[in-house]
Amino acid sequence: APARTAIIAGNWKMHYGPRMASSFALEITPALGKLLNEYPYLLCILCPPAISLSAVREVLDALLFERIELGAQNMHFEEKGAFTGEISPLMVRELCTTVILGHSERRAYFGESDELVNRKAQAALSHGLRPIVCVGERLEEHEAGKTEAVIRSQVQKSLANFRSERACDVVIAYEPVWAIGTGKACPGEDAQRTIHLIRELYADMYGGETANAVRILYGGSVTSANIAEYVTQADIDGALVGGASLKSDFVEIVRKSI
Ligand code: PEP
Repeated sequence: APARTAIIAGNWKMHYGPRMASSFALEITPALGKLLNEYPYLLCILCPPAISLSAVREVLDALLFERIELGAQNMHFEEKGAFTGEISPLMVRELCTTVILGHSERRAYFGESDELVNRKAQAALSHGLRPIVCVGERLEEHEAGKTEAVIRSQVQKSLANFRSERACDVVIAYEPVWAIGTGKACPGEDAQRTIHLIRELYADMYGGETANAVRILYGGSVTSANIAEYVTQADIDGALVGGASLKSDFVEIVRKSI
């Protein structure tokens, strides 16, 4: 058996309200469920908009597909309070196993810092949620040869101060910003090199055993045509998929990850 159970997560971003989410989930989950039943070393996580989580939860519960999990795309770190428009870890936990945190769109458009992302990730862990913490360099940083420095800083800040026994429950997504939604996917070998660096940095922070157990995903213009390039790399444990997770191609991505 592979050492680390792979993950294919679909980030639906701001697409599909409750009705569309429900019908799309009904469309893809029978095929997904069948694939996952045949192959226990892969986990699939659907991440619809917060308002559509209940609708997708109902579909998954009715079809009894426990190995297809549900994730939120963001959350606040507090349990409750006067935070209009936000959702809390307790609320997410009622429906989900997972929460995406620090997506580059949250960082770019909503001003989320490494420190905020870290606080949210710590809240997720202490509420039994699996955080998928996103890191990745921007185009100008990439072109200036700063990828390694940027990743080092994001990893050290966003992934800091976890209680050591929880640090292996974190999932890290390496998503170069220039590859997200652009069709310009990062070549598999380059993604492997950066993800290996992330694993080394994580080892410095939490020890080799934890770093060996933590799942690190690639994200950025993944489709069924290029997924094999990533899942065959030694340090890449799956993918965080945006655009292609909104279509039946997502089922093909899962099929090709097996
Ligand atoms: C994402 O939003 O996390 C992502 C990787 O998007 P896309 O697959 O569309 O590039």
